[in-house]
Amino acid sequence: MHYQEMSRTELQALHEKLTAEYRSAQALSLHLDMSRGKPEPAQLDLSAGLLNILNSDCSFTAENGMDCRNYGGLEGIPEARRLFAEMLDIAPDEIIVGGNSSLTMMYDAIARCMLHGVDDRCPPWASQSPIKFLCPCPGYDRHFAICEYFGIGMIPIPMTPTGPDMDKVEHWVGSDPTVKGIWCVPKYSNPQGITYSDETVRRFAALRPAAADFRIFWDDAYAVHHLTDEGDHLLNIMEECKARGSQDMLYIFASTSKISFAGAGVAMMAASVENIRYITRCMAMQTISYDKLNQLRHVRFYKNLDGIRAHMLKHREIIRPKFDLMFERFRELRADGIADFTEPNGGYFIALMTLNGCARRVVQLCREAGVTLTGAGACFPYGHDPYDSCLRIAPTYPPLEDLRTAADILCLCVRLASVEQLLKD
Ligand code: PMP
Repeated sequence: MHYQEMSRTELQALHEKLTAEYRSAQALSLHLDMSRGKPEPAQLDLSAGLLNILNSDCSFTAENGMDCRNYGGLEGIPEARRLFAEMLDIAPDEIIVGGNSSLTMMYDAIARCMLHGVDDRCPPWASQSPIKFLCPCPGYDRHFAICEYFGIGMIPIPMTPTGPDMDKVEHWVGSDPTVKGIWCVPKYSNPQGITYSDETVRRFAALRPAAADFRIFWDDAYAVHHLTDEGDHLLNIMEECKARGSQDMLYIFASTSKISFAGAGVAMMAASVENIRYITRCMAMQTISYDKLNQLRHVRFYKNLDGIRAHMLKHREIIRPKFDLMFERFRELRADGIADFTEPNGGYFIALMTLNGCARRVVQLCREAGVTLTGAGACFPYGHDPYDSCLRIAPTYPPLEDLRTAADILCLCVRLASVEQLLKD
């Protein structure tokens, strides 16, 4: 029976029953963490061979003869640029292979734009303040945190099943010169797992910004992270931009954080050759070169795109059952009319939508029963979820058995918070 169809007396009886169950759950004194999209240790173990690969063949030389132990090669070693260019389906001279974190490269990109501008012609963003970013939401909390940190205003743009609401994006970008950027996670978005449709990608490439120094921050963090055989296909935005001559407004980011090691992978930034030239010139003030040994390890370990694909199948084997478990449990909530959720074909997250006004309460109930969730509101600029209903579920880190317990408690908390909410009405 849908909770909404229950009488007050039925709801009160249910409340009593759920409260008793909740007390028993609290008595278990659990410590389970579903707050961040981390790989579980077994996933990290899949790349253990990467750590020794340079010892076994003792060659530290990149294919251009560069000794990877030494300084030099700011834009990355050629074989790493080629491998990751293939992964992102762009040209090797359109990519910089950097350090261990794409988030750092995004932060640095914003800092560069703020302090020095997007190129030699445009003034620094900071000299034009106030400036704004469009923030499709729900979205990735750390993108929004970067904006907040730099004092960049954030305009929420609703997500649709095909990507951000493009009418709103076109309106803002086309009419407001203080809008300097937009955050996008175009494939298996964080947290809904949505992949932008071909039409959405084409509309992005066709944007005609009012600001000459507008940039699309295309965070392709989950490019090869499928959970199904077919996976989703994302149209190549670089090609679409080139066809329209708009390639300079595009910055692409990615990393191997969810391929090799979340804390010790390789990150990359892709952009037009002109942008790459300017960016490496600025980057040269920051570092002489990134960790080329790690780049070499990655290339020697995965070899080519097929190697990466085969490796991703092993990840999928480990994490797919965790997603299935959550889907199964969330279907029960959906059947009771108290939640909806996304069922992505890849990525690291599920978005669980509770009844309006319940998300914060669910997080609190879970916390007090020993289950840590991502904070309610985290997926929105300034932490403000207008409906207090979106929860980001990250099922990958806990082992399957723990996840089963965590899912039980989460569902119990959603039920309890929903009954409390309905009793308020
Ligand atoms: N972008 C998105 C969309 C993410 O979900 C994450 C990790 N949760 C990151 C970037 C972080 O990437 P990295 O480890 O390369 O800094």
